[in-house]
Amino acid sequence: TDSSNNIYNVVLIGENGVGKSALASIFAGAADSMGSDCDLYGGEVCEQTVTVDGETATITLLDTWDPQDESKWSQDQCMHVGDAYLIVYSITDRASFERASELRIQLRRVRQSADVPIILVGNKCDLVRCREVSIHEGRACAVVFDCKFIETSAAMQHNVWDMFTGIVRQLRLRHDSK
Ligand code: GDP
Ligand code: MG
Repeated sequence: TDSSNNIYNVVLIGENGVGKSALASIFAGAADSMGSDCDLYGGEVCEQTVTVDGETATITLLDTWDPQDESKWSQDQCMHVGDAYLIVYSITDRASFERASELRIQLRRVRQSADVPIILVGNKCDLVRCREVSIHEGRACAVVFDCKFIETSAAMQHNVWDMFTGIVRQLRLRHDSK
C-alpha cells in the first residue's frame, strides 16, 4: 500500500496553559524549515508530511481546542474530526491532569465505537521542582484509559518528536488492522 496518501487529523486537546500551542509550534517550526505550508487558519492548523519508520504520512495538526468556548461548537467539532488525539496536561498542574481524564471520558462518549488512537501527554517535565503529578500517576492513568503515555517538554524540545512519531505509529496500527 502507498501510505504517502494517508492524511491524518491529529487534534491537541487539554486545559489552557498546558503547552498545546508550544507543542504545535515545534511541529510547525519543523514544517517551516522544510518549506511546508503551516499557516492555515492563523497558525492553529498545520499540515506537513513526516517520515516515520521510512514511510511518509501527512499530518494535519489541529490546535483549535478552546476550553473556554461557551458555544461548545468548536469543542464538538474537535471531538469529531480527529483521527487521533493528544490529550495534554501539565505535570505542574493537577487540575489539568484531572481535566485530561474528563476529556478522555468525553471523547469515548462522543466517538463510542471508533478505535481512536490517543496519547496522554504530560508536558512541562522540565519543571521538576513544580511537579504536582508523578510519572507513575500519568502512566497509571493511561493504563486505566487504554491509551499511550509520554512526558514531554516543549521548552526543552524533549520527547516532542517521539510524541509525534508515536501517534503516527498508532494511526498505522489501527489503519493496517482494518
Ligand atoms: P496552551 O494554552 O495549552 O496552548 O499553552 P501554551 O502553549 O500557550 O503554553 C502556556 C505557557 O506555558 C507558555 O508561557 C509557554 O511558554 C509555557 N510552556 C509550554 N510548554 C512548556 C514546557 O514544556 N516547559 C515550560 N517550562 N513551559 C512551557
Ligand atoms: Mg494555545
